[in-house]
Amino acid sequence: MKIAVSSCLLGEKIRFDGGHKHDHFVTDELGRFAEFIPFCPEHLAFGTPRPSIRLLRSENQLFVQSNKDQADLTERLLETSRDELSKISNEPLCGIIFKSKSPSCGLSSAKTYLDNGFCEGKEDGIFAAMCRERYPLLPMEEEGRLQDPWLRENFVMQLFAYDAYEQFKASDPTLNDLVRFHTTYKFMLQAKDEKLYRELGNIVANRNNLNFEILLAMYELGFKTAISRKSSIKKTRNVLEHLAGFFKNELTKEEKKILHSHISDFADKIIPLIVPLSTISLYAQKYNTTYLLGQTFLNPYPKTLALRSHITAGK
Ligand code: SF4
Repeated sequence: MKIAVSSCLLGEKIRFDGGHKHDHFVTDELGRFAEFIPFCPEHLAFGTPRPSIRLLRSENQLFVQSNKDQADLTERLLETSRDELSKISNEPLCGIIFKSKSPSCGLSSAKTYLDNGFCEGKEDGIFAAMCRERYPLLPMEEEGRLQDPWLRENFVMQLFAYDAYEQFKASDPTLNDLVRFHTTYKFMLQAKDEKLYRELGNIVANRNNLNFEILLAMYELGFKTAISRKSSIKKTRNVLEHLAGFFKNELTKEEKKILHSHISDFADKIIPLIVPLSTISLYAQKYNTTYLLGQTFLNPYPKTLALRSHITAGK
């Protein structure tokens, strides 16, 4: 899996002051499963070290201004941002991780200033805006937001699902393969967006006998949109209850009681999601419920990332 990442997050001493912003979750955790494609439009434009810059909104237009002598650096940064975009576009990316608050890389977090020096608000940095336009469905996050366990879990789930879809698409699939792919993602999609989950089910059913290429394009749009949605404790609880229903004829009274108490304790934020999921996996193995064992929802990414082991990973 290839992920484009702001170079300074990888520990490269490339910031305006010659420093870095090494992010250990990115390099040490995600790095075990991903190859990184670094980018830094500012280093390319102005070298390192360099005077800091800021975004200026004047007469409804966005400019890049030097904090040192107020020089207009817009064209130069646009040019190197286009170069970096073209570089990362040569790669089969599954996501982008940006450095927050940067006038180039900030994702909705780059401050913009007015002519009078006041801060006007926050928006995408120059490079981040280009990436958003070029890749509307690609998983994208900032390292700042990834400190939040809930956003982190959602983003990692999205990355791995995106990668799985790209691999599936590259395998020259048939309609039967699409049905199988959709089946394994059913509960994960339901935990993300119930409405889209149903729409995707209708697409796969192909009642209007659409051409497969059209069908696959419709599925891709719906799938990538659904996985970009955030799960919630309420939606996850519904899915857990649904999964528990698969064992209603097999479980003893005592086993049912244990499973439902785990689900309620998760909903009450007393225990993390991994507990009811482990109980469900255990019963699925004990009663050989192969349909559930194949569900990505139970194992959406490598378990060593342990992102569902924190109570704060649910909201
Ligand atoms: S331009 Fe982006 S990658 Fe380069 S130092 Fe600034 S935040 Fe980091």
